[in-house]
Amino acid sequence: MSINDLRTDIRGNVLLPGDTTFDLAARPWNTAIAQSVAAVVEVADADDLAAVVRYANRAGRAVVTQPTGHGATGDIDDAILVRTTELNAVAIDPAQRVAHIGSGAQWGAVQAAAAAHGLSGLAGSNPVVGVTGYTLGGGFGWLARKHGWAADAVRAFEIVDADGKRGRVSADSDPELFWALRGGGGDFAIVTALDIDLFELPRLYGGRVSWPAERTREVFDVFTELTTDAPPELSVWLQRYQIPGAAPTVAIDFAYLGDEARGRELTSRLDTVTGALVDTRATMTPDRIGTITAEPTEPGPSLSRGELLTDLGDAVVKTIIDAPVAPLLNIQIRGLGGAIAEPTGEHGARGPITEPYALYLLGLGLPHLIDDVKAAFGTIVDNLGAHVTGKKPYTFLAPGESAQAAFDTATLDRLREIKRNRDPRNVVRANFPVHN
Ligand SMILES: Cc1cc2nc3c(=O)[nH]c(=O)nc-3n(C[C@H](O)[C@H](O)[C@H](O)COP(=O)(O)OP(=O)(O)OC[C@H]3O[C@@H](n4cnc5c(N)ncnc54)[C@H](O)[C@@H]3O)c2cc1C
Repeated sequence: MSINDLRTDIRGNVLLPGDTTFDLAARPWNTAIAQSVAAVVEVADADDLAAVVRYANRAGRAVVTQPTGHGATGDIDDAILVRTTELNAVAIDPAQRVAHIGSGAQWGAVQAAAAAHGLSGLAGSNPVVGVTGYTLGGGFGWLARKHGWAADAVRAFEIVDADGKRGRVSADSDPELFWALRGGGGDFAIVTALDIDLFELPRLYGGRVSWPAERTREVFDVFTELTTDAPPELSVWLQRYQIPGAAPTVAIDFAYLGDEARGRELTSRLDTVTGALVDTRATMTPDRIGTITAEPTEPGPSLSRGELLTDLGDAVVKTIIDAPVAPLLNIQIRGLGGAIAEPTGEHGARGPITEPYALYLLGLGLPHLIDDVKAAFGTIVDNLGAHVTGKKPYTFLAPGESAQAAFDTATLDRLREIKRNRDPRNVVRANFPVHN
């Protein structure tokens, strides 16, 4: 059977090299990444997915599932790339506080549906990130300090296993696979739908205040104060920006999961730094959460590097302030802690991250900038020395990095054993496989 025969087996589209729309369909969100795949299959339903996996077994090929390609690494030559974009149904059960969502859904759609009932999922910073890739990798955003990892808010996964059989995985039906899927990445099965917990959040208070880069030192002082002893309802991120053609800026983004009066009180230190350029602080419904950082929602070429920091003491602050942002676009620090640092009884493979801050460096992945951007990543991280632990959240891994950096040895060993047992032919291929 050739790939071409899949066309008669499924309801969706099978695109092969040479087809008019193949290149566009194979392109990930990060356009700096090339994906040299054997075929792109735009599945219409879960049965299509099962048929693709059964075909891949017969043909000895790997299946890579990408709703968006936000986490693409490029290491998928000759694989079958599955686009789950059509599996985008979102149904909210407000009484049970659960969302049943297709595995191609993006956070913006889930948040919009949940907000209509005064509820929120554990969304990240960007509304066009796919819920499934984010959640399989752990996933942490503005609600994480209060409610924990997105992975641990999953009640059940509907899957196609590595043999092409459909099933439903929950803590009761298959605790081992359920554990691996909650934070171990996309290496163990293909998800067709998820049931995720929603949390009561009729409104939150948040936004961005930004200043000219000359105020960076003062803003760092405020950031350190705000992130020290903050209640779990308050999350604060610092951003240094150097957008080409614009003056450099420094910003504080925050979300307070409560009313405006208390939010203003907790963040009043922001008003002690005068001369703000932008101030978007407002009460908002949770479908607006993606507007806080106002990240791009269109594909583009990028390079990134994520790290975890041991502290935000003088040495770290000095290193980060002394580093010019250019040739990067953005240096971001997220205050962590709260529920993602606490070992809970029933967590999945993600487990706690106890480092108090995450660092995220972002640059343009244009050919003439790549060497300079990578050198700048290296310089900043080298200068941070032992203040960088070398561990990384799975969802902050970048192309060329390994899942090893995301897990402790015992967790990685357990994930590898589950992978060997569930997918011995390595048909299901994650962006960061656990065996690498
Ligand atoms: C602009 C931007 C903002 C971000 N913000 C955050 C943030 O706030 N917090 C955070 O934690 N992360 C964040 N991320 C990282 C993001 O969570 C990861 O890149 C994640 O992998 C994206 O998931 P996706 O499904 O959109 O991407 P894709 O590249 O489409 O998928 C990534 C991987 O997920 C797995 N996968 C996806 N769907 C399936 C499926 N149906 N079955 C099995 N495996 C599947 C596959 O291994 C796939 O390679 C951000 C990324 C970007 C680009």
